[in-house]
Amino acid sequence: MHKKIRLLIELQECDLRINDVEREKKEIPKKIDLLSKKIEEAKERLKSDIAELNTLKKKRREVEIEIEDIEEKIRKSNEKLTSIKTNKEYRAALKEIDELEEQRSQLEDRLLEIMEAIDIAEKRHKEIEKDIEREEKEIEEEKKKVLAKEKILDSEIEKLKEERKKLCEKIKQIDGSLLQKYDFLRMRKGGIAISPVIKGVCQTCHLGIPPQKFNELIKGDTLMTCPHCMRIIYWGDDERYQDQEDIKTGKA
Ligand SMILES: [Zn+2]
Repeated sequence: MHKKIRLLIELQECDLRINDVEREKKEIPKKIDLLSKKIEEAKERLKSDIAELNTLKKKRREVEIEIEDIEEKIRKSNEKLTSIKTNKEYRAALKEIDELEEQRSQLEDRLLEIMEAIDIAEKRHKEIEKDIEREEKEIEEEKKKVLAKEKILDSEIEKLKEERKKLCEKIKQIDGSLLQKYDFLRMRKGGIAISPVIKGVCQTCHLGIPPQKFNELIKGDTLMTCPHCMRIIYWGDDERYQDQEDIKTGKA
C-alpha cells in the first residue's frame, strides 16, 4: 500500500509543478505585450515632442514674415521721403518710419526669444531621442530574455510530462483503477487529489477525520479517502512517506 501512496504523492508533486510552470508560461505573452506597449509609449512621447518643435518653428517663420513685411513698408516709406514737398508731410513720414522701426525692433526681440526656445527644444529633443534609443534597446533585451525563459519553461514542461508518464506507467502496473481515481479527483478537487492527514486532521480541507478511521489510516493497510473532501489520504507522519528520493532510486 505505501508504495502506491508514495507514487501518488510523487505524481501529485509532478502535477503541481506542471501547473506552476504552465501558469508561469501563460504570463509570458502578457509580459511581451507590456514591453511592446512601453516602446509605443516612448515613440508617442517623441512624436509629441516633434510636434512642439514644429509649432515653434512655424511661429519663427511667421515672425520672420512679419519682419519682412515691415521692412518692405520701411523701404517704401523711405522712397516716399524723396518725393515729399512740405515739411509737415516730411515729419509725418519720418514719424511713420520711426513707428515701423519700433515695431520691427519688437518683432526682432520676439524672434530672438523664439530662436532661443527652439534651441532649448532641439537640445531636449536630442536627449529624448537618445533616452528612447536606450530604452528601446533595454526593452528589446528584456523581450529576448522573456522569450528565452519561455523556451526553458517549454523544455521543463516536456521533462515533467515525461516524468509524469513514467509515474503513471508505474502506478498502472500496480493498480489500474488507482490512476483513474487520482485523475478524477485531481480534475474535480482543484488539482489536489491526495492529502496527508496529520494528528487526525486532513491537511487539505483542514477537517478532522474520526479517530477510528485515523487509526486505520496509521495502519496503512487499505486505500482511504477523507470523509469530507473525498481526497485520497495518507498518514502524513509516516516515515515511509518522508523521503521521496527512495522511489526515484528504486528502493521503495
Ligand atoms: Zn479532506
